[in-house]
Amino acid sequence: MRFSKLRLNGFKSFVDPTDLIISDGLTGVVGPNGCGKSNLLEALRWVMGENRPKAMRGGGMEDVIFAGASARAARNFAEVSLQIDNTDRLAPSGFNDADQLDIVRRITRDVGSAYKANGKDTRARDVQMLFADASTGAHSPSLVRQGQISELINAKPKARRRILEEAAGISGLYQRRHEAELKLKNTEQNLLRVDDVIEQLA
Ligand code: ATP
Repeated sequence: MRFSKLRLNGFKSFVDPTDLIISDGLTGVVGPNGCGKSNLLEALRWVMGENRPKAMRGGGMEDVIFAGASARAARNFAEVSLQIDNTDRLAPSGFNDADQLDIVRRITRDVGSAYKANGKDTRARDVQMLFADASTGAHSPSLVRQGQISELINAKPKARRRILEEAAGISGLYQRRHEAELKLKNTEQNLLRVDDVIEQLA
């Protein structure tokens, strides 16, 4: 899976639709302080399903919507699209039947976030799993934010293990295990209820 284009629209300082073409090889983003370099990286994390406002340097998720400037009114929504080249069919099943994948996340004030994959409504969980399984998720160590190297040096072994697990592409398994445990608990509760009913009927 190779990212080929990132499009921002109303996301933080990118009020007008802006395309970032990601070519083969290394992509560098340079510019003066405050021009929006970190916002680009945050847009990438966000479209992959980041759901912690703090990771977006905000108090609430709606803080990613363009908040207005002296000459521009605030926007009502923010949208980020990520175009993925999937000619090698490396996207997990459910997503791997097309040469190109377009993942879109949109947040609307007072409504919340919605995701689309190639134009079809998709659950946040499925988008998060798509990237977690490909080791490029919102928490991926391949996206290095400011101050992260010193955090890593000082991190406790458990936190370091998480990074290795993410790099190995197994972090999606944690989510699946959690969901399986919840299902198991529900089933146990249902069985208890069935036992009660049988007892009453006996
Ligand atoms: P540095 O090199 O100093 O780290 P940078 O290029 O990484 O800077 P960013 O931190 O990405 O810059 O961008 C900061 C800019 O984004 C600030 O001017 C800030 O006002 C603007 N900004 C952040 N959130 C919003 C928002 N919701 N609406 C409008 N502008 C925003």
